[in-house]
Amino acid sequence: MTESTRRTRSCRLCDAGLETLLCDLGLSPVSNALVREEDLERGEVFHPLKLWLCENCKLVQLEEFEPPEAIFDHDYAYFSSYADSWLAHCRRYVAHVVERFGLGAEHRVVEIASNDGYLLQYFLERGIPVLGIEPAANVAEAARAKGIPTEQCFFGAATAQRLLAEGVRADLLVANNVLAHVPRLNDFAAGLALVLAPRGVLTVEFPHLLELLRNNQFDTIYHEHFSYLSLFVVEQLFERHGLRVFDVQQLPTHGGSLRVFACHRDDPRPEEPGLAAVRRLERAAGIDTHAGYGDFSRRVVETKLALLETLIALHRQGLRVCGYGAPAKATTLLNYCGVGPELLPFTVDRSPQKQGRYIPGVRIPIRAPQEIDRLRPDRILILPWNLTDEITAQLDHARRWGARFVVAIPRVRTLP
Ligand SMILES: [Zn+2]
Repeated sequence: MTESTRRTRSCRLCDAGLETLLCDLGLSPVSNALVREEDLERGEVFHPLKLWLCENCKLVQLEEFEPPEAIFDHDYAYFSSYADSWLAHCRRYVAHVVERFGLGAEHRVVEIASNDGYLLQYFLERGIPVLGIEPAANVAEAARAKGIPTEQCFFGAATAQRLLAEGVRADLLVANNVLAHVPRLNDFAAGLALVLAPRGVLTVEFPHLLELLRNNQFDTIYHEHFSYLSLFVVEQLFERHGLRVFDVQQLPTHGGSLRVFACHRDDPRPEEPGLAAVRRLERAAGIDTHAGYGDFSRRVVETKLALLETLIALHRQGLRVCGYGAPAKATTLLNYCGVGPELLPFTVDRSPQKQGRYIPGVRIPIRAPQEIDRLRPDRILILPWNLTDEITAQLDHARRWGARFVVAIPRVRTLP
């Protein structure tokens, strides 16, 4: 707690001072704190959203701003089990690891940040014992209601010690899309090393920094997302805690992710070709040098101008516009660009937890997807651009009344 509330500008991996500001997105509210109807007359807390580069280890990161307990509170609105493409991705992952590592009833799979059991359910189906670790109380409860053993707590070295004392060891340890959200990276990695069985496999997925830089994905910068990771940095982190990477896969999820496979340092597993391939890719992009971070902030400003130009032009033409989706990245995009309900009167989301609430800061209302059929907008701005194919397929019928789709990232464009 004291460590996570500390306000120093030093690298959360190597502790060097942070001097290089990569991008300044101004002030933004916490992206997942969707505003309720009854709170509309209240104010919101805005925090600086600045992305720093550690010149020593090259970890790209936010400064800490508030303890994670305040982010993952009881009201945390995100439940994983909604996007079809995401569940298909999870199912393929389970099939892959069960086959590759010969997992069965005598093994145990432990997942950190297991959400509502979206992933572990597929291991359970195959008779493999599981344990989920999930910090958000209502989400952990939803998992238990589905029959998925889940402990409600934050993961770190202390939690790992307790699990060890209870005899829990992970033959497969999964930490998907959580590393970026961890305030104390070293404590978290120390916990992973503790709970991993001697010949166990750790798999970690995270959005790839290379894609963020290359494809201008600045809306994935938000306060809950402390670190923006490359293989280069993750190998340094694991190395500090007696772990080593032996394979890497490149995934299309979240606009381009890495799935890193790691084991204990003394595990004799050979390095797979995927590891060398991603190392080469990162080196070619200069991710290990200052030069690799180039003109990112200029492209961010360009996107803001282009999105405003587009929405203002649509407004002047009298066309009706709405959004699709209310992901965390919408909070960053819309607040940074200054897009309020005058330019985007509402958005829709399939998650019932989000419907009836408002995007933080800009206060754009979130409605049920049926509103699109009722109001027949002329343009639909797809906010979770990583799901563009899925969403345009779902809304294909909207083309019949002449609706067209707009995306803002990597550049603002109207889809054909
Ligand atoms: Zn560093």
